[in-house]
Amino acid sequence: MQPIIGGAFAMLIFAGKNIASLAPILSNPIEYLKGVGPLRADLLKKELGIFTFGQLLDHFPYRYVDKTRIRTIAEINPSTDTILLQGVITEVDTTGEKRGRRLTAQLRDRTGTLELTWFQGIGWIQKFLVSGQAYMVYGKPAFFLGRPQITHPEIEAVQPEGQDGRNFMEPVYPSTEKLKVRGLTGRQIGKLTFNLFQLISERDIPENLPPDLLHSMGLPSRWEAYRDIHFPASQAACDRAMERLKFEELFIAQLRMGMLRANRHRYSKGVSFVRVGSWFNEFYERHLPFQLTGAQKRVMKEIRRDTAAGRQMNRLLQGDVGSGKTIVALMTMLLAADNGYQSCLMAPTEILSQQHFEGLSKLLKEMPVRVEVLTGSTKSAERKRILAAALDGSLHILIGTHALIEQKVQFAKLGMAIVDEQHRFGVAQRARLWEKAETPPHVLVMTATPIPRTLAMTAYGDLDISVMDELPPGRQPILTVHRLEDRRPQVMEFMREEIARGRQVYIIFPLIEESDKVDYENLMRGYENVKAWFPEPRYWISMVHGRMKSDQKEANMQRFVRNETQIMVSTTVIEVGVNVPNASVMVIESAEKFGLSQLHQLRGRVGRGSEKSYCILLTGNKVSKEAKERLHVFCATNDGFKIAEKDLELRGPGDIEGTRQSGALNFKLANIMSDRALLEQARDRTAEILDRDPELSASEFAGLRAFLQQARGRNEWSRIS
Ligand code: ADP
Ligand code: MG
Repeated sequence: MQPIIGGAFAMLIFAGKNIASLAPILSNPIEYLKGVGPLRADLLKKELGIFTFGQLLDHFPYRYVDKTRIRTIAEINPSTDTILLQGVITEVDTTGEKRGRRLTAQLRDRTGTLELTWFQGIGWIQKFLVSGQAYMVYGKPAFFLGRPQITHPEIEAVQPEGQDGRNFMEPVYPSTEKLKVRGLTGRQIGKLTFNLFQLISERDIPENLPPDLLHSMGLPSRWEAYRDIHFPASQAACDRAMERLKFEELFIAQLRMGMLRANRHRYSKGVSFVRVGSWFNEFYERHLPFQLTGAQKRVMKEIRRDTAAGRQMNRLLQGDVGSGKTIVALMTMLLAADNGYQSCLMAPTEILSQQHFEGLSKLLKEMPVRVEVLTGSTKSAERKRILAAALDGSLHILIGTHALIEQKVQFAKLGMAIVDEQHRFGVAQRARLWEKAETPPHVLVMTATPIPRTLAMTAYGDLDISVMDELPPGRQPILTVHRLEDRRPQVMEFMREEIARGRQVYIIFPLIEESDKVDYENLMRGYENVKAWFPEPRYWISMVHGRMKSDQKEANMQRFVRNETQIMVSTTVIEVGVNVPNASVMVIESAEKFGLSQLHQLRGRVGRGSEKSYCILLTGNKVSKEAKERLHVFCATNDGFKIAEKDLELRGPGDIEGTRQSGALNFKLANIMSDRALLEQARDRTAEILDRDPELSASEFAGLRAFLQQARGRNEWSRIS
């Protein structure tokens, strides 16, 4: 993302992660650490991205072995989970050839023996195991012919007592197969970390959180936290260290976002829409076909306040499907026009652009506002005319696909850029809109994929957020049910009844990737099947999928829009924004393959008229328990925010639309779901600090300033542009 405030200050905010160092020693190349050397250094760099001492310090354990809790072989029973054992190795043996080759060894303690087996890394294990010596073994036992055994255990030679002073919780680090072959298992990496701690002291890991904050939250110092996360003396020390580092991670991320936002608020220049002029008023008083909902009014107020303030608006508008975002967009664009500025409205598909164009043209038909639509398929004479009108300023509103930014569209005076259904647009594409005018236009991003609050705070913390959590009155909730394959005849019968009542039906198949032959064949088979149930000439069917040419898609879509076909068979290309109010049934095939948020988008295609609408989720007769639960959640609520929360819980943030590219969610330790409370604390604290001292100039922030400054010098530059 191009930071609008630009310059070094933005760098300072953007750059850097949670990195331990200020002291030069932590920037030492990793090969200089005792126990590493050039070969292992190469692997550490390639496999784990560890180039320096400091990066090793930031490579955190994922679990600990509690050495005070060594158990015995006799204790093992079929319900035993992972277990730590200590014993002597005997009878090391290899059997089999090539792929079938394996290595076995017996581990004996004072209560019995247990077989250990390896299928991989045999060469290295063979060298490592010495018959008659003592080892510590960790793994999950399984029973074979009534005898316990462990396959691919973690194993380590027992050190003479007290040699390394690590008696309690021994850290185990993430490692890889290649590293393990070189003798760097998860536990051996701990030896390197231990060596590192022999070289550093408190001075090398200075505090970065303000002292007051640290005390009021009862957190350990940064040094203590790093020490205790690697080598905790107790579970309690480990927990405290973890909490401190997670908080720091969230705090720094929130601070960066907050600074970006605060600086945009303070320094960015934006065009001022001071006037609520005649067009806006005329539309509001004479042409608005309904009363605005409370939520729509509130959002309009927020937008008017933002756009009149003399700084650039950068607002995310979240509104559930059908909450009426289009009218907000229209009125916002009229506000711009009243102040002598042009607007553009970007939609993710041609179909949607066309629909917006038709919808807005209709609403504006009695007003002298000039609206045009520009897409990839606009004919060249037409295109020329539109481009000329954009350039000479006679065009007020330009609607289109990403063609708007990818082609040479120039505006005389662009003041407002609106992006509809934002999750199809990358952050970079959005940023390019800003380059279309000297003073960047206001940006309003509208999304129908509700983003849970926690996510929005982290992923979009640099934007201002509006929420429309209210649907226009009189909507009937959509009845959603889950049906197994053996009920298909009844589902088809139901569709016939609805069609007989003049309604239309969608049938959706899982997404077709350009390359996915299986999905494509499924769709074709599905289409033939639908045709068999709904034969011509009594019924007509449209089909739209990703492999079609766009004019073919368009033609099929238009026939459905005009009610010339009763059934639309489609892939998820239909997902976003299409408006056919007469459609009352949404059938989703293989529903278990869709994410909840995507299902919600699809369901939003029906229930747009006054008729009672239905969404039917079809799955095979055998459905996993997990899928069943998910579909059940979906059937039980129409609330997009609740669904998004559940989706986040089930699939994690990486899969939520619109957040993938943000990079803002790549926390090392923190998890925005389970650490929600910490996240909120971090947010509140940063807000309070930035309110009080936006430049962080007070002496209590010296450590924080130094940390941000330091982070700036790191190899994080690539993330900035
Ligand atoms: P979305 O937020 O999903 O883009 P739309 O803007 O397409 O929703 O609006 C959905 C439907 O609701 C449209 O037919 C629109 O005309 C209608 N609508 C919008 N606002 C209101 C309102 N305040 N009262 C009644 N109907 C409304
Ligand atoms: Mg919409």
